[in-house]
Amino acid sequence: RKMGIKKKSESVRVVIRCRPLSKKEVAEGREKVVNMDYANGEILVQKSVDEVPKRFTFDCVYDENTLQKDIFDETAFPIIENILEGYNGTIFAYGQTGTGKTHTMAGVLDSDEHKGITPRAFETIFKSINIDETKQYLVRASYLEIYKEEVLDLLNKGGVQKLELKEKPGSGVYVKDLSTALVETPEKLMEIMVRGNKNRHVGQTKMNHESSRSHSIFTVTIECGEVGADGKAHIKVGKLNMVDLAGSEKQSKTQAEGVRLEEAIKINLSLTTLCHVISSLVDGKSQYVPYRDSKLTRLLQDSLGGNTKTVMIANIGPADYNMDETLSTLRYASRAKHI
Ligand code: ADP
Ligand code: MG
Repeated sequence: RKMGIKKKSESVRVVIRCRPLSKKEVAEGREKVVNMDYANGEILVQKSVDEVPKRFTFDCVYDENTLQKDIFDETAFPIIENILEGYNGTIFAYGQTGTGKTHTMAGVLDSDEHKGITPRAFETIFKSINIDETKQYLVRASYLEIYKEEVLDLLNKGGVQKLELKEKPGSGVYVKDLSTALVETPEKLMEIMVRGNKNRHVGQTKMNHESSRSHSIFTVTIECGEVGADGKAHIKVGKLNMVDLAGSEKQSKTQAEGVRLEEAIKINLSLTTLCHVISSLVDGKSQYVPYRDSKLTRLLQDSLGGNTKTVMIANIGPADYNMDETLSTLRYASRAKHI
């Protein structure tokens, strides 16, 4: 693989991933309207050859043939390296429901080839910390969901619980009483994720919503202690957030009433705020970053901006009937960051 135009050192990157046509789409004779040029980071969207294509350029674009390993190596690995050095980082999967957010983040957990970013991150973290015997590491995990601007703990033993966001001067925003698990192996991290996913389903049945309507955040905190040349103990803390965002699709008018409308408004609020936050970080000149405008961005405030690294993977489908949503995702992604 030739390296495209990506610049690895940048602190905020927005990349696009297009999934393959599904079996069903192929059977229905759906046409592909998306073409990608990896070398130039360019995407062309075009329904027919007589139409002028819509062009977009991003840090990197990944077509339907992209391997899970390649996405991990190019988008997640640079962030994880930073975490081990004591910095925070966040990986977002954005897109319409059915475009591959969960495939990109979790993937097929028991497949070496098809497992996603999260299980690969777990392995990479432990591989790196097991090499260096002069340092001592503590690895902690937490897993939560944000639904209708409410924070839900997915690792609480007594079932899914609503929690409050609090702010402490000096240490910033935190989730009061959030369960954290101390973990010593990548397998244990996987177990915790699977347990959280089960709780997520139970909680969703109780609260009557689907996973596509909520944001999930899996956080791994790595504390590294070492004795410095001065004979004193030094501690560095890095935090990795892996975020599977709520589906970005527009609610149809007939569907969007009552609870559904309220959901749609709140999902919209956090996705719009996220876009504003990322674009003001990219811009660098804006004095004001609107972290406080949504729970999602408030919660992730210490992992967005400053000395942190962020990547947003915006997922799209290739088929003609998805073109409007695809364009809407590409516009969102280019408002966040275009080059
Ligand atoms: P989302 O989480 O955005 O709703 P999913 O990750 O569940 O979407 O993906 C929808 C379907 O498409 C799943 O069956 C998934 O396995 C498949 N899929 C998504 N991305 C890819 C890909 N890059 N390669 C193969 N299959 C994919
Ligand atoms: Mg999903």
